[in-house]
Amino acid sequence: MADVEIFKHDILIVGTGLAGLSAAVEAAQRGKDVATVSITQAYRSHSSAAQGGINAALANVAEDDSAERHGFDTTKGSDYLADQKAVLAMTEQAIPRILELDKLGIPFSRTEDGKIAQRPFGGAGYPRTCYSTDKTGAVIMMGLYEQCLYHEVPMYEDRIVLSIGEKENKIKGVVAINLITGKLEIFQASAVIFAVGGAGRVFKDTTNSWHNSGFGFVLPYFKGVPLKDMEFVQFHPTGLATNAVLLSEAARGEGGYLRNKDGERFMKNYAADKMELAPRDIVARSIQTEINEGRGCGPDGDYVELDLTHLPAEQILSRLPQVRELAIRFAGTDLIEEPAPIRPSTHYTMGGISVNDKTESEMTGLYAAGECSCISVHGANRLGGNSLLECCVFGKISGVSTSEFVEANKVDDDALEVLQKEADEVEANIQNLFNGEGSEDGFKLMAEMQKVLSKNLGVFRNKEGITKAQETIKDLKERYKKIKVKYTGRIYNWELARLYMLGGQLHLAEVIVEGALKREEFRGSHCRTDFMKRNDKKFMKHTMAHYDVKNDTCKISYSKVDLSIWEPEERKY
Ligand SMILES: Cc1cc2nc3c(=O)[nH]c(=O)nc-3n(C[C@H](O)[C@H](O)[C@H](O)COP(=O)(O)OP(=O)(O)OC[C@H]3O[C@@H](n4cnc5c(N)ncnc54)[C@H](O)[C@@H]3O)c2cc1C
Repeated sequence: MADVEIFKHDILIVGTGLAGLSAAVEAAQRGKDVATVSITQAYRSHSSAAQGGINAALANVAEDDSAERHGFDTTKGSDYLADQKAVLAMTEQAIPRILELDKLGIPFSRTEDGKIAQRPFGGAGYPRTCYSTDKTGAVIMMGLYEQCLYHEVPMYEDRIVLSIGEKENKIKGVVAINLITGKLEIFQASAVIFAVGGAGRVFKDTTNSWHNSGFGFVLPYFKGVPLKDMEFVQFHPTGLATNAVLLSEAARGEGGYLRNKDGERFMKNYAADKMELAPRDIVARSIQTEINEGRGCGPDGDYVELDLTHLPAEQILSRLPQVRELAIRFAGTDLIEEPAPIRPSTHYTMGGISVNDKTESEMTGLYAAGECSCISVHGANRLGGNSLLECCVFGKISGVSTSEFVEANKVDDDALEVLQKEADEVEANIQNLFNGEGSEDGFKLMAEMQKVLSKNLGVFRNKEGITKAQETIKDLKERYKKIKVKYTGRIYNWELARLYMLGGQLHLAEVIVEGALKREEFRGSHCRTDFMKRNDKKFMKHTMAHYDVKNDTCKISYSKVDLSIWEPEERKY
């Protein structure tokens, strides 16, 4: 039997980004026994990197804004694949939630008359993105983290959850590796919230942090919970061409231009009305088209320019200090004086663990919130500023739902037995990796996975490319069986951690590929060049990927989209 330490809490939250911390604060305020477990130090989750802001129709700048209008913009932005009641619930909750955060002391930037300031963002009819200069994620994280300290929420850091313990479709807890000791640990819980962030790292060029491996998505999937709409991957228009690090949409919200090699503001040819502030899928495709058609800048013509030089230096210094610093550090350009080289970069995972608007999954006691979940409020394309919002609103809701759940459901008597067995399996997997054949190099396989997805499932996709990716991923899954972890020490063994997770990442890649291959239409971020029209008749439905245990592969089915509020129409900007 594996040598494990055992912890027990009523509610366990995996992940301490904005979703996880929102849930933790809510459950703690309700007096629940709640704990978090995360790879990162709690406040260093990717949410801290969020720059631009968080949406809420406060109507501080444009008086006639409303939750309904916010809901409509979100639904239209989603290319009508979002579930509309869930969208409206989010946009309605947005207003009290931001005011609650304001009361907690989050230092939002202010208008001259002292209200929370709001800037324009892509795809929005009104300036409704609340912000704190360009460090919005970090400041909200700090506020919620302080609340967790105040409520003395136990936070287990440097842990990677490697498996879920489940029996008869009821969760019993999780098995994690403690990176500091290298030992396995069991966390018993009657309710578990997955808040593991995004999956950008299955692709090559991404704005996402190293911890957004996507591995956490497949743990519920392996135990029968479907993944929804995973083919919808957002490419952010303005990743730095040098290393894919993000320059926030706030730069365009503040008035930044996009120019091609002729200095032309090319967005007039694609979205004459909204220009640079069209939704992300449209701007990303426009940039890629400029590059593909030979109007890109630089010796290889492989980027366009983000130009802020017409803005007053004072505006850049006060509203976009981080954007400026990132461009100086990683591209050697000061945006006050010259434009920065940018191109689309993998940014956000619209799909995720399938849950309802109470964040409940199909497994009793298993919840998901934040980027890893799919309710769905983003459909085929997310609007900027709506993700921090989703995390804050539905993270809190998951705190409510689990608090209510644990009042009626205590940790099961057989939980430990189930989790011990699970831990033994995890340990056996680790030993297999230590004692593997070693004819394949795991990190080369990881690089091949990332490359084949970026090349064939990027801004533009077609059957030929996706099929190529499908074959490669299938082959990589076989070759993965022959890898070996060379360093067998247990303390902070990141080689072990990364290669363990690669096994799951390959399954996630497979889910993305299978969904993309079967969706023969052009909707939101999923631009099939061989099917250049949205096909509501055939594809107004969510893709549901189920793990087929017997064949170790994924099976696709579909589920209904909630269209009960707004009639789908053609998306024009
Ligand atoms: C550079 C950048 C800028 C952005 N700017 C904005 C913005 O301005 N506005 C906006 O709305 N959205 C923005 N986004 C998107 C938004 O920040 C994210 O979608 C959101 O913060 C995700 O929060 P989360 O709580 O779901 O996960 P994260 O903040 O990513 O946290 C994930 C957590 O899960 C933990 N974890 C993962 N796997 C495991 C595991 N197996 N075991 C244990 N722990 C695990 C990690 O340690 C981490 O604590 C931005 C994203 C990026 C990358």
